[in-house]
Amino acid sequence: MSYTHKPTVIESIAEKLHLVPDLHREDDGPRALRAAEEGAEISCPPPAQWDNWVEYDSKSWPERKTKEYMLVPTACFNCEAGCGLLAYVDKETMEIRKLTGNPYHPASRGRNCAKGPATLNQIQDTDRVLYPMKRAGKRGDGKWERVSWDSVLDDIAGRMRKAIMEGRNNEISYHVGRPGHDGFMEWVLRAWNVDGHNSHTNVCSSGARFGYAIWEGFDRPSPDHANAKFILLVSAHLESGHYFNPHSQRIIEARMKGAKLAVLDPRLSNTASMSDYWMPSYPGSEPAILLAMAKVIIDEGLYNRTYLENWVNWQEYLQAEYPGTPVTFENFIEALKKEYAHYTPEYASKESGVDASMIVEVARRIGEAGSQFSTHVWRSASSGNLGGWAVSRTLHFLNVLTGSVGTPGGTSPSAWNKFKPHVHAEPKPQTFWNPLHLPDEYPLAHFEMSFLLPHFLKEGRGKLDVYFTRVFNPVWTYPDGFSWIEALEDESKIGLHAALTPTWSETAYFADYVLPMGHSAERHDLLSYETHAGKWLAFRQPVLRTALRRMGKPVTHTWEANPGEVWEEDEFWIELTWRIDPDGSLGIRQYCMSPYRPGEKITIDEYYRYIFEHTAGLPEKAAAEGLTPFDYMQKYGAFEVESNVYNVNEKAVPQADLDGASVEPQSGLIVKNGKAVGVEVAGRSCTGFPTPSKKQEFYSGTMVDWKWPEYRLPGYIRSHIHEETMDHKNGEFVLVPTFRLPVLIHSRSGNAKWLAEIAHRNPVWINATDGAALGIANGDLIRVNTDIGFFVNRAWVTEGIRPGVVACSHHIGRWRREQDPEGNRWAANKVNISREGDGKWKMRVEENIQPYESSDADSSRIFWSDGGVHQNITFPVHPDPISGMHCWHQKVRIEKAHDDDRYGDVFVDTDRSFQIYKEWLAMTRPAPGPGGLRRPLWLNRPFRPDEKTYYIA
Ligand code: SF4
Repeated sequence: MSYTHKPTVIESIAEKLHLVPDLHREDDGPRALRAAEEGAEISCPPPAQWDNWVEYDSKSWPERKTKEYMLVPTACFNCEAGCGLLAYVDKETMEIRKLTGNPYHPASRGRNCAKGPATLNQIQDTDRVLYPMKRAGKRGDGKWERVSWDSVLDDIAGRMRKAIMEGRNNEISYHVGRPGHDGFMEWVLRAWNVDGHNSHTNVCSSGARFGYAIWEGFDRPSPDHANAKFILLVSAHLESGHYFNPHSQRIIEARMKGAKLAVLDPRLSNTASMSDYWMPSYPGSEPAILLAMAKVIIDEGLYNRTYLENWVNWQEYLQAEYPGTPVTFENFIEALKKEYAHYTPEYASKESGVDASMIVEVARRIGEAGSQFSTHVWRSASSGNLGGWAVSRTLHFLNVLTGSVGTPGGTSPSAWNKFKPHVHAEPKPQTFWNPLHLPDEYPLAHFEMSFLLPHFLKEGRGKLDVYFTRVFNPVWTYPDGFSWIEALEDESKIGLHAALTPTWSETAYFADYVLPMGHSAERHDLLSYETHAGKWLAFRQPVLRTALRRMGKPVTHTWEANPGEVWEEDEFWIELTWRIDPDGSLGIRQYCMSPYRPGEKITIDEYYRYIFEHTAGLPEKAAAEGLTPFDYMQKYGAFEVESNVYNVNEKAVPQADLDGASVEPQSGLIVKNGKAVGVEVAGRSCTGFPTPSKKQEFYSGTMVDWKWPEYRLPGYIRSHIHEETMDHKNGEFVLVPTFRLPVLIHSRSGNAKWLAEIAHRNPVWINATDGAALGIANGDLIRVNTDIGFFVNRAWVTEGIRPGVVACSHHIGRWRREQDPEGNRWAANKVNISREGDGKWKMRVEENIQPYESSDADSSRIFWSDGGVHQNITFPVHPDPISGMHCWHQKVRIEKAHDDDRYGDVFVDTDRSFQIYKEWLAMTRPAPGPGGLRRPLWLNRPFRPDEKTYYIA
């Protein structure tokens, strides 16, 4: 099958009239061919015509007017998937007219969700920040003045230089919401020798990541959904989960080939409604269900003996748990049966409410699928519960039992499908360990304890001199947002706060500088994610800059092509780094030197040119088309580095590593100079997995060594919201606040009018039985009481959620105060916030969404007034003592709204939230671990510092 553009009727007429070139010609571009082969039927102009594409102007109808476009690929920024976009640049106005899918992107293959094309709204947002702003009053007063980029850069660079020269490197912190370029900030921070990377991951995915990492060293799954026979999702993955569009299109492909789908979700999501098996589990009970399935697979002999025998550290388990017993596989299976005897389908049913017969049926289906069994958990249960990391650990147990790890149709580790770029000058790992990010209480925390920062500052654990927030809005997206406001307002705790953002936000209101950064079509980034059994690289590029270059009018900096003075971050960081070390004496500037022009500052083109020239296979691919690697990426926007990546653990150990190595007889571990370099399996030397045993670790010696022996095996940890703790008669329920509406993006869709038009309210889902018991009818105003306050919302009485559970989507309930600059008016309520003293805060909506006059005629056509309710701000922090994940689910008490309650009201007591932080902190078992370590050396750490810093002095 070859790729053929299918002209529309209008295009065919235009073709006959010779208004456009021949559209029926087959394009033999190699990437297009690939897109078609993989099942895409994408209508897209052929690349040969991207420099001059002509089509009728829809807005001129009924007049037949043509428009000339230049088509430039870039990548979406509206979720992590990084799907390809193709921007249509009007050559007359040099404006982006629309964004569609890029069929040359190996993951998205020309498809997007609604959020991709809505990038156009974000670019055209009339409220966006166009110039650097500096606060003119007290922090949070809402007074701003425009300043020059030069003054901003000099001010921040001077402050950072002083901090670094005084050894206060840990007072510099970069806190990121939506990351862009893989590896770029690590490069910058290491150049500064600053352990300053702080992410949002511990409010997102670190629970699931830890459950995977403790098994196999890699912390995310990469399911090969397209080739699976059975798919098990612990999430609403088809509609909104991780890698939403690339995954969902492959799940659909598998289903069209006959695969079956099971979904664990207390809510009847769109995904659950399309499944073959919907298991509406009580939140937190998922590991009990998964272990019951494991028991069925073990008891009925449905496991993959070869895989277990070869790739699981069962010998270590038997030696530790059954000393003196012969170390045989049969004894292992017998021990497994004993270990999980308790997890009968009936027990799981009692815990979860899911029918025992369905649990058994799904388990058998999984066993039948064998190595073609793909799974995924994204946020959902693993990010909601105390011990939520046990969800991914028990889910992966099913992959291990069926031998579906790394197989066609199975589930691979993420890193096998992720490309890592090589930069021209790699700084050494930083020599600092920042305890404000990873304190000793959380030695196994999978990512930085970012959501505890306000409490750490309140306790006096340290302070920040320069704090960058980057597309990051903790005041709104995080739990306990009022504690964030308290911290951000306090200049003794945070010396300078620079918010790098394309748009105003609840956090930017409390910054010193608000620095406008480009949207996805206005910046560079390099992307690669584990979307399928391949490895790819995508290039997010500033569309107008590339278009100008193609038209022979190149610019030197991206901001010259962007609206106003909107910079891109890459150029900002290079410029800032240059100014921190003006004479090179700090050894920082050397990393920003051009690899092509000795002694001169690197340009952004040179930075990417070097990476592309050093990407395996790309120079050859580009040369075949007579292009440089950089030109190739500018033209197609993506490159497939590898396809059909499977069973990487079986890769042979390089001979150089084998020379002089020894093999441990029982475990097969190949050891050289005291370090494991591989493992012998079935007579072959394999690189294995990055774990101490180089195998899948059913038995975790790490959990034993780090004071959690009770969790040495995959098990079930009762959640903080276990059903036994609920008094339903008293209105107590578990609130599931983690579900996502498929067209919205945390706090990044408030400036997208098409998305706000589709979804703009977030009522509380409550089952009809529960509603009747509490006398609550559809649309009633209810007060949802949390441990630190309450919010007032409307009830949505539905059968689409299991009894005993209520749910409310995040993304909605954006706000601004009277004094704040106008922003996100498609979605933001105007609120009044008052402080009542002693940490008590009140928020009341003063004005709903309203039509308004602007240069966008649609703003006067807004027909909705409901902006939803901000729920996250009423949640205390719940740090899991092991993974460090914030456990989002809340025990709430639902009651009818009080007489003086109004829709959208919020009340919070931050003193109480501090107490709750202390209660959860008390659950930890702090470092040091063995050898005085802060953290196991083998367990990956984000932005890994020098090994010496791992030891507590
Ligand atoms: S799934 Fe949607 S929001 Fe995410 S990158 Fe793709 S198009 Fe953008």
